[in-house]
Amino acid sequence: MLPVFEYASSLFDQYELELSHEIYEKLEVYAAFLVEYNEKINLTAITEPTEILKKHFIDSILLQKYVELPLNCSMIDVGTGAGFPSIPINILRPDIHLTLLDSLKKRTVFLQELCDKLGISAQIIHGRAEDISKLPEYREKFNISCARAVANMSVLSELCLPFVAVRGKFVAMKGPNEDIYSSQNAITLLGGEISSLIEYDLFDERRKIVSVKKISQTATKYPRNSARIKKYPL
Ligand code: SAM
Repeated sequence: MLPVFEYASSLFDQYELELSHEIYEKLEVYAAFLVEYNEKINLTAITEPTEILKKHFIDSILLQKYVELPLNCSMIDVGTGAGFPSIPINILRPDIHLTLLDSLKKRTVFLQELCDKLGISAQIIHGRAEDISKLPEYREKFNISCARAVANMSVLSELCLPFVAVRGKFVAMKGPNEDIYSSQNAITLLGGEISSLIEYDLFDERRKIVSVKKISQTATKYPRNSARIKKYPL
């Protein structure tokens, strides 16, 4: 399914990431199940094996190279879709206590089957971030919230920061074109502060990872409902 191990390994090497046979076997299972399931349920537009390796697996794994994820931390992946970025990270870092959140039921059904196949014991939640983060069991309960390709930085901050405990962080994986600093006001209102902006090349594409430190509690009026978030971004 994926390219042969030696070739895959050479792609990982370009980012000084080590690819063991054991991890590779899990990524193979993941890729095969993703492509098979994608024939009945739309999970991803990327189905070519080398592209899955580069744009889904290596891109996701780079987050844990560029951002410190403390040992045994709790992490919620908001709008995880088919499990990116957090499932490839969890394959490398099984110490992380993972929660996967998506608003589409059919994707969470896929995620449950995938986790069972991979032996990953993630908590899987079907719901909208703006509803789930209001529940006391999830409000400011995570060391890390992360998201890739879900919304612009201002909207995403309102979806993700309420999950993060004070002193934790929210990490957003972004394309090259977004002006991160235009969301500064939203981040401040939600109790955060941009702590780093890392830019890198994912093979021939430019990428950014923004880390936002949670410095104070998020006011209970946030997040607002999805219509207000969209209509009146902070
Ligand atoms: N993060 C994945 C990735 O990088 O491949 C999926 C990205 S996909 C473009 C966006 C995902 O976010 C979809 O699976 C969608 O169902 C989910 N989503 C969008 N808005 C959401 C919300 N408010 N709460 C939870 N999930 C949401």
